[in-house]
Parts: sequence; structure tokens; C-alpha cells
Amino acid sequence: MEKIVSLSKRRGFIFPSSEIYGGFGSCYDFGPLGVELKNNIKKSWWDEMIKKHDDIVGLDASILMNPKVWKASGHLTAGFADELVECKKCHRRFRLDETKGDPLSFICPECGGELTKPRKFNLMMKTFVGPLEDEASETYLRAETCQGVYTNFKNVMQTIRLKIPFGIAQIGKAFRNEINPKDFIYRTREFEQMEMQWFCEPKKAYKFFDFWLKQRLNWYYDLGINKKNLRTYEVPKKELAHYAKRAVDIEYKFPFGWQEIEGIHNRGDWDLSNHSKHSGEDLKYDPSANSGQAYFPHIIETSVGVDRSLFAFLCDAYQEVKGGRTKTTKSAKELEVFLKLHKSLAPVKAAVLPLVKNKAEIVKKAKHVYHTLKPHFMTQYDETGSIGRRYRRQDEIGTLFCITVDFDSLEKDDVTIRDRDTMKQERIKIKDLIECLKK
Ligand code: ATP
Repeated sequence: MEKIVSLSKRRGFIFPSSEIYGGFGSCYDFGPLGVELKNNIKKSWWDEMIKKHDDIVGLDASILMNPKVWKASGHLTAGFADELVECKKCHRRFRLDETKGDPLSFICPECGGELTKPRKFNLMMKTFVGPLEDEASETYLRAETCQGVYTNFKNVMQTIRLKIPFGIAQIGKAFRNEINPKDFIYRTREFEQMEMQWFCEPKKAYKFFDFWLKQRLNWYYDLGINKKNLRTYEVPKKELAHYAKRAVDIEYKFPFGWQEIEGIHNRGDWDLSNHSKHSGEDLKYDPSANSGQAYFPHIIETSVGVDRSLFAFLCDAYQEVKGGRTKTTKSAKELEVFLKLHKSLAPVKAAVLPLVKNKAEIVKKAKHVYHTLKPHFMTQYDETGSIGRRYRRQDEIGTLFCITVDFDSLEKDDVTIRDRDTMKQERIKIKDLIECLKK
């Protein structure tokens, strides 16, 4: 875990937010490589949902919504509250389910002090809209992206002329005033979700649940996640969220243990029926005009955190080789780190390296290659340090291909291209490079 946090900072994946002011709570910023990785994960998820299926469309709803939404959804009542206990000695606060052993023994897991009785703590983040901080302008930063989908259910269905079953996919920020954010970017107060809401006939909901669970597991497998590090967990009935009829968590084996990265939920008709009741808008689906058989569609939701899945992908890709994979440089004696990220997730696809930096023609040619590739692939140019060091720097961030311009390149107009995983090198004509990399 420490190694991954340190690599993330050192190589520009993830920085603590407002670091020059000592950081801020559990907030993190994604650096130049982090934002590429994040965008690649989002693109992969979006393509999986929208391009792979005929019957899923996208949406981008606003973060701020009419506060009545949160009343209807049940978020302002006990439904969206964690039980909180506080240590009378060190004053740290914990979720009741985090206290070790029997929670009713009320012993602080940090200092052994006595804990207070549990009380409900709502996770919604309050904010004020408009110039006056009075009640009329009070609302919340959304705690989940899906409510914007439910309030737009009719808009989307009518404008795109969709018939049930269909899905609406959305990626966006969500905010929760977590009692105990922890484990780097695993649990934060601001995070991003990728959610898909699947609207279907009530009697088909259970079948679709299994279908979507399988689809979601396959997404991780297709992106190269080690099967041994992924498992599912059927949430027991008594632990289900207020809206859920069934929930299965997809869990990843993090360095700190098995933890949820995605939830698949059968939300029944909770959302559409409650929004109908509270808004007065009829959100039933009628199979054909005035059939007399209108019903509230049931919803199967797949919900994954961008940040949590990114963390899982990073942990899964992290590899260490003692003594190095290459024995050709002095640095090979050190511990070699490489990130075996899937090709579609790797933040940098190619790095262009002039063999030496004191030979003007080689540098000129290398820069030409770099500028040729850059519009097509995320490409870096690196001329500092020995070639062995530069390969290792690129391996450490998961760069797929290192392209070296050497003395032969000046005569033959070609380069060597080195594969990250096999470390095999091939000579390729510069004019064929784009096609070769695409392939
Ligand atoms: P947890 O039990 O970990 O609090 P949850 O069951 O409340 O999570 P959901 O409401 O099902 O989570 O949210 C769906 C997904 O959103 C989670 O699987 C996770 O990937 C992401 N997520 C939820 N809360 C956070 C958070 N505080 N920080 C980062 N990601 C989060």
C-alpha cells in the first residue's frame, strides 16, 4: 500500500489536495498521469455500456438538484445515515461497523477508550444556493449520480423513443460526508461514479440482475484484472440499503483486505414510484398508448467508483522484480517496478528516446518521431539519463512501447520498438510506426 501511494505521488498519478496548505481531509488531486488513467477507465466503461449495447443511452445531469429529490429518494431520513460512535478519550469518530469485535462493548479501536452510544449521522453534504444562507436556498451535493437519471427517466424515454427494457448510463461526481474516510483514495468524501440504470419489467428484474452482474465481472476480466483478486459478495437481507431488494458487491483484494469496488442493486420500483408520489408526475411506463397496463419499471443498477476501480487497477498492475528484468544496466541491481496496466488503460502508450542527447541529428530525428506520434497516441519524449534508466522510468508508469532512435536510424530511417511486457525489441521503419502501434 505504501509503495503504491508513494509511486502515485512520485510519478504524478495522485497528489494530496491543497498539499501546500497541509492537505485537506480525504481529498486528492489526479496528476498528469492520474488524469489519463482516469479518463481511460471512464472511456472503457462508457464504450462498454454505450457502444457494446444497442439499448443504453448516456446522460450528464447536474450535481445540484431540487432538495425535494433527496426527500423523495429517502436520503434525508435514516435511510442514508451511518451509525457513529465517538471515543470519550481520544475523540476519534468511527462507524459503528468499524469497531472491533462486539460493537456493543464500546471500546475505541485506536486507544481502547470508552465509546459513546451510537447515533445516526447523515452523509449528505449540505450547501447553499444563492446569496442568502437561509433555509429556502439550502440543498445538497448529490450523494449518488442515479437520482438525476430517475428525474430524467421520462425526458430520455420520450425524446429517444425508447421501449423497455433500456438503460441510462452516467459518469459524474458524488459527495458523501463520510465519518471515517481512509485507505488513500478508497473512501473519500468527493468521488466519481459510473452508474448504469436498467429499466425493465418487474418479473424480469431477477434475470437481468444476473445478466448485469456477469457483464460487469467480464469488464474487469477483459481489462486484465487477476481473477484471483476479484470476488462477489451477496449482501445479506438485513444489511440491504433502504431501496434494495437484492445487492451483490464486486470486491477486490486490496492490500488492506477484500473491499467493495462495485455494487449491483435491484432497486425495485422504489425510485420511480417515490418520485411519482412526491413530484406528482406520472412516471409509469405504458407498453402501448392507454393500454391500461402501465406499471413502474423495476431498476437494476450497476454502480462503480472511478477512483476505487482506478485504485484496484493500480494495485493489480503493480509488479516488483528483484534484481531487475534486464541485467544490462547498473540499475538492474535495484528493485525494478513495472505497471502491467492493460493497453487501453495505460496512461502513456509510447515514449520516444534518443539513444544519446549530444548528437544533434539523433535528437532532431527523435523529436520528429515524437511529433509524428503525439496526435495519435499519448506519447512522451525523454532524453535524460542512460537508456536503461529511461526504460525503467517508463516501465514504472506502464508505458506500452519505448521507441529508441539510434545511430542506425539516421541511415535506415527506422527505430527500435520495445514491448513493455516481453521486453522484445524490433526494428520498424518510421513511416510504418503509426500503423504498427495501432495494431
Ligand atoms: P461503502 O459500503 O464502501 O460505503 P456503498 O455500499 O455505500 O459503499 P454504493 O452506495 O453502493 O456504495 O456506491 C457504489 C460505488 O460508489 C461503490 O462501490 C464505490 O465504488 C463508490 N463509492 C461509494 N462511496 C465512496 C466513497 N466514499 N469513496 C469512493 N468511492 C465510493
